[in-house]
Amino acid sequence: MSLDFAGRVAIVTGAGGGLGRQHALALAARGARVLVNDLGGAVDGSGGASTAAQAVVDEIRAAGGEALANAASVTDFDAVLAMVQQAVDAWGRVDILVNNAGILRDKSFAKMDMQDFRLVVDVHLMGAAYCAKAVWPHMQAQNYGRIVMTTSSTGLYGNFGQANYGAAKLAQVGLMQTLAIEGAKHGIHVNALAPTAATRMTEGLMPEEILAQLTPESVVPAMLVLAHESAPTRAILCAGAGGFEAAHITLTQGIHLPVGPDTPEQLAARLGEVTARTDEQVPQSGSAQGTLELAKAKAAHAQR
Ligand code: NAD
Repeated sequence: MSLDFAGRVAIVTGAGGGLGRQHALALAARGARVLVNDLGGAVDGSGGASTAAQAVVDEIRAAGGEALANAASVTDFDAVLAMVQQAVDAWGRVDILVNNAGILRDKSFAKMDMQDFRLVVDVHLMGAAYCAKAVWPHMQAQNYGRIVMTTSSTGLYGNFGQANYGAAKLAQVGLMQTLAIEGAKHGIHVNALAPTAATRMTEGLMPEEILAQLTPESVVPAMLVLAHESAPTRAILCAGAGGFEAAHITLTQGIHLPVGPDTPEQLAARLGEVTARTDEQVPQSGSAQGTLELAKAKAAHAQR
């Protein structure tokens, strides 16, 4: 099966460098018309140079593709609405949104300034929500859309010094879960990508020989699969150095306890059973998880 994007219109945020640039180049090379967004700031989000997006647009055009540059900050909802309108005015639709823009403000939580916490949440979570909100009516109207959130292993599993970033990155998974449910009847598929790649964000964090294997290009196939017409929905794909995995938010079988004065003691005594990972499941929604608990209560009641 060839992953063709002819006729599709894509917006890739933070695509002036790193992973976003590779995403934009790959989508354009496979036939998509690409709006390349980038504020052009430093890795901590400071500054901004509108040339970052234009340089990638120039590369795409030089290779025979179609692209437009946009220097909006994803934290500015009005500018994000204008960015989406720019794509719609030029090409009549938006099929794909890759929420890729991101910054870091790493520090141990004890030393972390709450302003830096908020800024990281603003860029990653609010930026992703603003961009999704701006494309949503277009995707609903055309009964087609693909949204890729960029999460992170830090969000999924934690990393020292990244409390703000981890919280913001897992929040994108939460956004994905509900948008996938709400988008289903409009043909909108929403997924998350957890990349590992050598970019300015990771330079100095790992030895050179390891970084050499972690090319941004090796992450791109996972983005293409999640952005394509054949994409799944509600998947969390991890990708790096040619490795591809799926992360799941699972639920154990657990136990049922009647509510009484010694329920806390019973729960403490049986915690091993609650956390045992045999026959884990992935509920189809939050309310489906609640229904599972009610079913367990009903079964316990019937046995009494
Ligand atoms: P990068 O710094 O090269 O790319 C991020 C881009 O986002 C930059 O070009 C930056 O200018 C842009 N940007 C930042 N704030 C913006 C804003 N407000 N509006 C518009 N653009 C903005 O780093 P990267 O590694 O290519 O990161 C891309 C994405 O992948 C980020 O979301 C990052 O958190 C995520 N990620 C990267 C890794 C990795 O190993 N490199 C791991 C997990 C997640």
